[in-house]
Amino acid sequence: MSEITIVEETCSVCGVVFGMAEHQKRQRLKDLKEFFCPNGHSVKYLPNQTPEAKEIATLNETIVRIRKEHEKLYDENYQQRRHIDCLENTAIKNWQRSNAALRGVITKMRNRK
Ligand SMILES: [Zn+2]
Repeated sequence: MSEITIVEETCSVCGVVFGMAEHQKRQRLKDLKEFFCPNGHSVKYLPNQTPEAKEIATLNETIVRIRKEHEKLYDENYQQRRHIDCLENTAIKNWQRSNAALRGVITKMRNRK
C-alpha cells in the first residue's frame, strides 16, 4: 500500500475547501492545466501562483523590508551623529567659556600684585 499526502485547496469560484493529492497539486502548479473542484468548477493555477513566482514575490518583499530597515537605521544613525556633534559643540563652548573666565581670574590676580 502506498501513501499519498492530501493537501488543502480552495476553489477560487465557489470557495469550497477540498483535499488534493500533493503530487497532483505540484503537477498542476507546473503545467498550469485545469482541474475541477468537488462542485464541478474548472479551476487552474495562474503563473504567479507557482512556487517559483511565490518565492520571487517573497524575496522581493524581503528586499523591500530590508531596504526600509536600512533607511531607518541610516536615519537614526544620522540623527545620533547630529546629536553627538551638538553635544561636542556645547562641550567645546563651555570649555572655552570657563577658559576665558579662568583667564580673567588670573589677570585679576596678576594685577593685584
Ligand atoms: Zn467550486
